[in-house]
Amino acid sequence: MEQEKEIVSKNFIEQIIDKDLEEGHYTTVHTRFPPEPNGYLHIGHAKSILLNYGLAKKYNGKFNLRFDDTNPTKEKTEFVESIIADVKWLGADWEDRLFFASNYFDQMYEAAVKLIKKGKAYVCDLSAEEIREYRGTLTEPGKESPYRNRSVEENLTLFENMKNGMYEDGSKVLRAKIDMASPNINMRDPVIYRVARMSHHNTGDKWCIYPMYDFAHPIEDAIEGVTHSICTLEFEDHRPLYDWVVRELEYEHPPKQIEFAKLYLTNVVTGKRYIKRLVEEGIVDGWDDPRLVSIAALRRRGFTPESIQKFVDLCGISKSNSSVDYAMLEYCIREDLKLKRPRMMAVLDPVKLIIDNYPEDQIEYLDVEMNLENPELGMRKVPFGRELYIDREDFMENPPKKYFRLFPGNEVRLMGAYFVKCVSFEKDENGNVTEIHCTYDPETKCGTGFTGRKVKGTIHWVAAKTAIKAEVRLYENIIDEEKGVYNEDGSLNLNPNSLTVLKDCLLEPEFAKAQPYDSFQFVRQGYFCVDAKDSKPEALVFNRIVSLKSSFKLPK
Ligand code: ATP
Ligand code: MG
Repeated sequence: MEQEKEIVSKNFIEQIIDKDLEEGHYTTVHTRFPPEPNGYLHIGHAKSILLNYGLAKKYNGKFNLRFDDTNPTKEKTEFVESIIADVKWLGADWEDRLFFASNYFDQMYEAAVKLIKKGKAYVCDLSAEEIREYRGTLTEPGKESPYRNRSVEENLTLFENMKNGMYEDGSKVLRAKIDMASPNINMRDPVIYRVARMSHHNTGDKWCIYPMYDFAHPIEDAIEGVTHSICTLEFEDHRPLYDWVVRELEYEHPPKQIEFAKLYLTNVVTGKRYIKRLVEEGIVDGWDDPRLVSIAALRRRGFTPESIQKFVDLCGISKSNSSVDYAMLEYCIREDLKLKRPRMMAVLDPVKLIIDNYPEDQIEYLDVEMNLENPELGMRKVPFGRELYIDREDFMENPPKKYFRLFPGNEVRLMGAYFVKCVSFEKDENGNVTEIHCTYDPETKCGTGFTGRKVKGTIHWVAAKTAIKAEVRLYENIIDEEKGVYNEDGSLNLNPNSLTVLKDCLLEPEFAKAQPYDSFQFVRQGYFCVDAKDSKPEALVFNRIVSLKSSFKLPK
């Protein structure tokens, strides 16, 4: 029974791997994550990273981080560095196996020569447009290039000349000689090398020919000894070409490509090109703007590697594309922080509360649990005095029914402290409440076991004298994919409320110790994280990671 259960819970990739090991196709498992350094990584990449790393770990195998940097146009060192930082942060450990595909350019060149010598590749002079025309369509077979039957000798010379810079960009390409009548268009003599004078971030100006992805990728995998080359569904139609390359190049233990569905999230954009546009147009504060779902942004917002691992686990691995509810990601971070992080008091929209019968200059230090549900986090001292601040929405002059917070004549508990009863309040000329006056009952102190009477509401507060000021940023999604990414004029359809900045928030003094990336529950308000970019010890800035409430239910 136990064993059966285990088999059932394996995803389809694990089932393939099990079979491969059982049948002796491979003796070990070796995976890789192969990002192209042309942008920052996002939540979708996190899924791929954790999947590949997780499989290597599970099967006691190896995991490589390899930059797929064979197309210099959009690649930058900034992206290489950010990707390394993100993969490390997620906890995927490549040990000493960090590779760059561009370091294999010599081997790729040799591989191309090998194909030419086998009569499996030829230099073609057709223009890009002609190649497209000759390729045919889904319903019509392609036409053979007039250069297809060049001799091996001629091809070797021409290809060497390509490498030596004797031809204009785009004037000649090397093509695999496969089958112009194949029902799979990818197999109709695909281009495998092109002439392009571009400086490469790693190899500089050494090369003026560059390999195409479909040729380069299987070679990269084979060179590194990768066994299972896991990629996303759009490459399914390319698999026959992948297999052709590793077969014709006669690798002893050819890698195997397996595809799974990309991760999409509702209400947000994940595609690199959307995020890039938001960054380049200056709409967001860089690739790590907390409204984005790049890994850098999630980290800055306050997500933890554990929460992302949990999210990816809940998503599972599938063969059909679908979108996951953004609320599930929020659920995962709440679950992760719930017991781990302190719950302290912060007032986001302060209004003064004065306790008329409390001694003028007295400060009292109350002992309060860091986290009621986790005693291991210990206690803290919270100063209490005659003048406090509470959140504006916790007082109403004319409350509706079932409002249990503060209103004239009503008594509530100040969290961790005393009962207070509202006796009066003051307003300014605009009708805004400026001061609320209460009296307190010394008998009702928290922790003394008072049972004399009950109140229906408990509100949070901070003492005026010791409060620290902070800026708090509240976020909503910046683009809602379901509502449409673009406006009619091609501009981005942005949510005008994606960022709310609260400048005058007041926190209890314990927050003074907060460091960048530290996160907390602000009681009754949500989870917040110290902004690593803008927060300073004397001017704290917090990001709201997520509010406390959700309608999200974990699928059974
Ligand atoms: P994007 O579509 O956002 O530009 P990409 O696929 O071009 O991403 P790469 O750097 O080429 O980005 O991808 C690196 C790896 O991450 C690839 O193996 C790719 O299949 C995987 N990957 C990319 N997006 C997702 C996603 N949404 N879900 C799961 N895996 C993904
Ligand atoms: Mg890509």
